[in-house]
Amino acid sequence: MSRTIVVTGGGTGIGRAIALRFDAAGDTVVVTGRRPEPLKETVRAGTGRIEAVRCDGADPTQVRELAERLPGRVDVLVNNAGGNTDFDLAEPDSLESLADQWRTNFEANVLTAVLTTHALAGRIADHGSVISVGSIAADNGAGAYGAAKAALTTWNLSTAAVLGPRGITANVIAPGYIATTEFFRDRMTPQRRDQLRTATLNDRIGQPADIAETAYFLASDGARHITGQVLHVNGGARTTR
Ligand code: NDP
Repeated sequence: MSRTIVVTGGGTGIGRAIALRFDAAGDTVVVTGRRPEPLKETVRAGTGRIEAVRCDGADPTQVRELAERLPGRVDVLVNNAGGNTDFDLAEPDSLESLADQWRTNFEANVLTAVLTTHALAGRIADHGSVISVGSIAADNGAGAYGAAKAALTTWNLSTAAVLGPRGITANVIAPGYIATTEFFRDRMTPQRRDQLRTATLNDRIGQPADIAETAYFLASDGARHITGQVLHVNGGARTTR
């Protein structure tokens, strides 16, 4: 039976891989994000069952509009939107820029998941799934980003408790370093790539498809009794620092 899947941040990287995985299996997928062009690319890469909706997941009005626009039931919500905005901000040299850094990380990685889940909760099918993309950074003290992913992980537990009586599972996938095209290709030195690969136990750099397969499994009937958990997908690496 075809399901309806919502993937936030589905225009790029891991979110796109997740969207395409469910699409390839015959599900109907809605991808969200702020920029239209990446979303269109995901739609183009799919088989005709992917729809794009522009939505800033940290903006309550836009999230409400997303919920109103979705037709009927949602079977799987993937809270993938986020990212490490520390990379793009200068080292904070004032309380104002420090506040910006923490606000940006918490908006992108926590607020997007909290608002979207809250807005869609009533529409998520009994026995559906909420999957949130955390990070290895939640465990290794990586500043504002790590703290935001740790908050996401703790929030997931309460979500699992609230939605559990309806048979809805809520889990976090915590990737280690994943070679999404843009960052890996354009912004990383060969030395850093080697360092990340050798930090794994399997001498391998993680790929978006590794996370997509994990999400697909967590949304399957075989994962019905897995909830409130963090599934680490990191090649055994303890850190990406
Ligand atoms: P990308 O930057 O490619 O993906 C992040 C996506 O989130 C973008 O499509 C972006 O779209 C979207 N997004 C960000 N903020 C918002 C917002 N306010 N509302 C809606 N969408 C938003 O990076 P990745 O694919 O690497 O990251 C995906 C997830 O995986 C993130 O949560 C990241 O923290 C996590 N992760 C990634 C790792 C890696 O090594 N790649 C490792 C561990 C975790 P737009 O800007 O158009 O809104």
